[in-house]
Amino acid sequence: MPLAVDLDTYAAQAEEFVGAMDREYYQHFAGHKPEFEIQPIYARHAGLFTRDVVDHLRERLAAASPGDETRRSRYLLELAVGGLLGNETKEEETALAEREAALEIEVGGEPMPYRQSAVEQGNEPDAERRAEIERARLAVLERELNPLHRRALERSHELARDLGWESYREMYAELKQIDLGALERETAAFLEQTAPRYRERVEPHVRAQVGFGFERLRRSDLPYFFRAQGFDALFPADRIIPALEQTLAGLGIDLRAQANVHLDLEQRPSKSPRAFCAPVSVPDEVYLVIARHGGRDDYAALFHEAGHTEHYANVDGSLPFEFRYLGDNSVTEGFAFLFEHLTEDPAWLRSVLGAQDAERIAAYTGFTRASKFVFLRRYAAKLSYEMELHAGERGLDEMPALYSRELGDAVGVEWPSATYLSDVDGGYYAANYLRAWAFETHLRGVLAERFGPQWFAVPEAGDLLRTLWREGQRLDADDLLAEVTGERLDFGVMQAEV
Ligand SMILES: [Zn+2]
Repeated sequence: MPLAVDLDTYAAQAEEFVGAMDREYYQHFAGHKPEFEIQPIYARHAGLFTRDVVDHLRERLAAASPGDETRRSRYLLELAVGGLLGNETKEEETALAEREAALEIEVGGEPMPYRQSAVEQGNEPDAERRAEIERARLAVLERELNPLHRRALERSHELARDLGWESYREMYAELKQIDLGALERETAAFLEQTAPRYRERVEPHVRAQVGFGFERLRRSDLPYFFRAQGFDALFPADRIIPALEQTLAGLGIDLRAQANVHLDLEQRPSKSPRAFCAPVSVPDEVYLVIARHGGRDDYAALFHEAGHTEHYANVDGSLPFEFRYLGDNSVTEGFAFLFEHLTEDPAWLRSVLGAQDAERIAAYTGFTRASKFVFLRRYAAKLSYEMELHAGERGLDEMPALYSRELGDAVGVEWPSATYLSDVDGGYYAANYLRAWAFETHLRGVLAERFGPQWFAVPEAGDLLRTLWREGQRLDADDLLAEVTGERLDFGVMQAEV
């Protein structure tokens, strides 16, 4: 960026880039096209992500006055660094996405699409076949994809040092302004303090869904546990969209009247098994994409992504690009968790889905607590692992064993090492999830306190949410929480949740 170019011009060009990337992401991962053509997008916007631009934005940030000017500069710097890394690893990213979409694994002599295999595994009642699907998928991952993952990660680590940071970890701690060390102390304390009661709390629910306990449980059984077919009757497939509409209506939102929200519900062979929201143009064009697996998963995933969707769709269009698209993703993930949590809320199950069987509702609530317990411990362990992975002090060859040990200890099953790179989201996104869980727990407490346990049916609760959504991610989760409640964001709050 020539020094004469101002931040507004840079932001306008960056918005075009981000929109084009999100559109490509949407089209490929929703299964509309097999190609994932991000290289031409990078080529068109190459000027946004040069070393000079990064240096210049760092100077701007250092000289910015506190408050919004600092925020805007920092969010743009994070984008520029992420873009520079993305540009330098785009061949690997493209190859990964395209191979993943085309790869097949073989199970019992039959071919199965690689991306679909995780869904099949979650629906498979036979434990041996689940293990077989996972073995086949991990073998393909190691052989076909891990070399690409590894090259991309090595290149990212190298670039962080080239840009003048000590490590990838130091770089993201500074860009995100998250004290990763302090967060890890909180999550490590959570791991330690919840360890004595983890198995005894989770085991009955594992037994109820899977048919056996930790003595036989394997990692390959976990998708089936989370899928929890035993609760399908609570979540009728034909009620899923009406339930979302009704919930939003309760908060004063008419989904059908939101011309800027596009629902993509159709099943396509190469559609990603992971639901997602693609904010192609915020707030004007937001896609909500879901893959159907059946049962509670569909509801949880749809509501999670609907939380993102309503957040983006309600952002004030007159805000600068930085606050509409960028900032602390702990905020948007927090709103996503808030909606997802509704599908676990007994009051919601009764009033929106008409559930009446008190015993079944209690069993479901117990199950969701247990499954969240597993998730929280898994992500706490992921953060500890990523602290080492990205510190650059130990060789990557040590990482598969470290990953497998940390995750295995936290979750209580033998954990395969093959996913030691594919399980890592770039830029310490695991930290965003961990902060988002804490943010959501605080926020949900405020909503229940002010509007009662049925807050989701109170239009004034919707007003409060819309007030928060309007700001996009101008404020980070800490500042936003302080503004709403005066509380400090603290992962310790999660202990009471499990
Ligand atoms: Zn999310």
